[in-house]
Amino acid sequence: MRLKTGTPGWTAQADVVIVGSGVAGLTTALQVRAKGLTVLLVTKARVDEGSTKWAQGGIAAALGPGDTPKEHEEDTLIAGAGLCDVAAVKVLVAQGPEAVRRLIARGAVFDREATGEISLTREGGHHRNRILHAGGDATGAEVSRALLAAVTEDAGIEVVEHALVLDAIKDAQGRVCGVTLHVIGQGSRGGVGRALGRAVVLATGGLGQVYAQTTNPAVATGDGVGVALRAGARVADLEFVQFHPTVMWLGPTARGQQPLISEAVRGEGAFLVDDAGERFMRDVHPLADLAPRDVVAKAIMRKMLDTHRPHVWLDGRGIDNWQERFPTIYASCASYGVNPSRDLIPVAPAAHYASGGARVDLNGRTSVPGLYACGETACTGVHGANRLASNSLLEGLVFAARIADDLAENLPTPGEPVSNTSKEVLLIPSVRDQISASMTQGAGVLRTAKSLGHTGSDLRRLGTQASSEPCVEAWEATNLHLVARAIVEVATIREETRGSHWREDFPQTSPEWQKRILLALDGNGGWSHTFELVPDA
Ligand SMILES: Cc1cc2nc3c(=O)[nH]c(=O)nc-3n(C[C@H](O)[C@H](O)[C@H](O)COP(=O)(O)OP(=O)(O)OC[C@H]3O[C@@H](n4cnc5c(N)ncnc54)[C@H](O)[C@@H]3O)c2cc1C
Repeated sequence: MRLKTGTPGWTAQADVVIVGSGVAGLTTALQVRAKGLTVLLVTKARVDEGSTKWAQGGIAAALGPGDTPKEHEEDTLIAGAGLCDVAAVKVLVAQGPEAVRRLIARGAVFDREATGEISLTREGGHHRNRILHAGGDATGAEVSRALLAAVTEDAGIEVVEHALVLDAIKDAQGRVCGVTLHVIGQGSRGGVGRALGRAVVLATGGLGQVYAQTTNPAVATGDGVGVALRAGARVADLEFVQFHPTVMWLGPTARGQQPLISEAVRGEGAFLVDDAGERFMRDVHPLADLAPRDVVAKAIMRKMLDTHRPHVWLDGRGIDNWQERFPTIYASCASYGVNPSRDLIPVAPAAHYASGGARVDLNGRTSVPGLYACGETACTGVHGANRLASNSLLEGLVFAARIADDLAENLPTPGEPVSNTSKEVLLIPSVRDQISASMTQGAGVLRTAKSLGHTGSDLRRLGTQASSEPCVEAWEATNLHLVARAIVEVATIREETRGSHWREDFPQTSPEWQKRILLALDGNGGWSHTFELVPDA
């Protein structure tokens, strides 16, 4: 299966092709360059688009006095609800501090205490203050700024913006040796072309746009998972879409990216209340408002269902330095007429983070030779059934470096590209809104076999709305459709409740389900799945 497109009219080449310019793509580019290899980095919108620049809370790393990678590991494993890949978690927490120091050496400036020490805060699920932040609540913007500045200075990294990657290209041995892509407004490189390299790294971020309300920006349409699936790669943990508990509620018709109220606000003392002003998290979990995200999101949904209200409230009136500590969130609230130092903030859960993605090993390799994945597009297994707050920027930093190390040692030498004669697919752009509405309705925070069945049949119907007019909107809609089908497939298979997967018809966590579901496309566009057992930590 491949996306319908025109015949490629141009070719570009480098040692390594990297797709995406968030923390994962940019860090991989810099690390690969440090090995003396050339990089072609292609990205579908402006170079700073993507989730990275929106990250607020920060980056988790065991850097504080008394903190250890072991304690960070324990908190990560608890949040992951029995499905973390322990080897990957050990790599994340052990190599995290060094990866953060590298980022600082590249120019990222984090907030510091008056003593000069890096200021560390706490977020849900962490038992210690270990979250570095920048500009108060503008950590992602600073990470993006610093990495982009370093990439721009490096003549060995060519960046092509407005370049939407469509599909992987393979050689006769089935090894990935490039991608097809569509570039808007690049002169001789405009239209559909080929970017060839000795390896391809997918770093296309998340898939939040598959739901009607999300914290993710418009570019987060799951393209990398689509490319990986169509290339024959296995994906895993796609049922574990994390819904952030505290996303500002903007009314019943709000769609697309919604403003996030970072967990760090609760870390600084804010708490949830219902319409009656009752704090309801104290009875739910020992960490109360700072319980892991899935626990908080579920408690909010339960409260919303019980009270028949579309949201609950976040009370942050006790935080006395709002404008200084959380300037971005303060401004965002103010733009909707809410003054968080005086008013309660209406909040409800919204799609936030894909814990799953293209299944990779500890060096970022997918199951298809020559194809790597990094960042939110990848499933390293570090998040298990639920990501611990602020572990995702860290994952991008750590695994990007490991991919570069692997490429330096094992850079493949692929053969000539062969043409892809598989079936072409393309859906009309207008299916996008119907996909996201149906996914929120049937495959969102709450799921049952029945609700998933309804969404599955909506998706089958929408899958017949073929288009003959290739364009960015149609390619994105087709990727969203494939990713939505994949989520519904695995969410239906997993008959238990665990982490961010909440099956109302199977409300318990079952030891039988301590395994991950690996999903792949078969030759006819259907699914095949296998299981990967996850040993006890
Ligand atoms: C509001 C918000 C707050 C968050 N806060 C935190 C936090 O405090 N701490 C934390 O650790 N994590 C946080 N996260 C999660 C974290 O920001 C992301 O998981 C992380 O930035 C993902 O990085 P990435 O490089 O994988 O993807 P992204 O930063 O999303 O970058 C993906 C890139 O791929 C490009 N792309 C997509 N499709 C294609 C295609 N077909 N062809 C070419 N290019 C393509 C995009 O344009 C973009 O450049 C937050 C996320 C959001 C949305």
